[in-house]
Amino acid sequence: MIAQEFIEANQEYAANFSKPKLNRRNVLVVTCMDPRIHPYEQLGLKIGEGGIVRNAGGSAEDAINSIVVVQHVFEVSQIAIVHHTDCGATKFTTEWLRNKVKEANPGRDDVAQTIDNMDFHTFTDAEQSVRRDLKYLAENPLVLKGTSVTGWVYDVETGKISQVDEVVV
Ligand SMILES: [Zn+2]
Repeated sequence: MIAQEFIEANQEYAANFSKPKLNRRNVLVVTCMDPRIHPYEQLGLKIGEGGIVRNAGGSAEDAINSIVVVQHVFEVSQIAIVHHTDCGATKFTTEWLRNKVKEANPGRDDVAQTIDNMDFHTFTDAEQSVRRDLKYLAENPLVLKGTSVTGWVYDVETGKISQVDEVVV
C-alpha cells in the first residue's frame, strides 16, 4: 500500500535531510498535476524559493485562492501559468465529466447540483488555454495592479518551455 511506501521512502529522505533555506523568490508558478511535470527542475527553481500550485490542467481559475494568498500575504507580483502538451485536461470535457459523476450517483440530486456548478477548465490546445488564463487573471479584480503574468507551454516530448505571452495587470 502507498502509505507503507511513503513511510519507507521518507525514512530514507529524513536520514539524509538537510533543512532547505527559505529564500522566497518573487514568483508563483501555476501548473498541472501531471506526474511528468517537475516545475522546480524544469524552471530552475530550488526548494525553498518559489511557490507552486498544481491542479488538473494548471488552471488559473482553480488556483485563484492561492494566488490571492501569495499576493496579499507574501507580496508576490509575478505569476507564471505553465500548461503542457498531451495534458489530461485535453482528453475529456467538463460536460462529459459531469455526466460521468451523475451516472456514478443515480438519483442523487445533491451530487448533480454540485457537479453542475463545477467547471474543470478543460481545453483542446495548450497555448489557447494559457491565453484564456492570462485573460482571466487580467480581468480578475482580486489580482493586484502591476502583477506580471507570464504564460508558457511545456512540451513533454522535448522538455522545452515556450513563452506564449505576458500581460501586466
Ligand atoms: Zn496536464
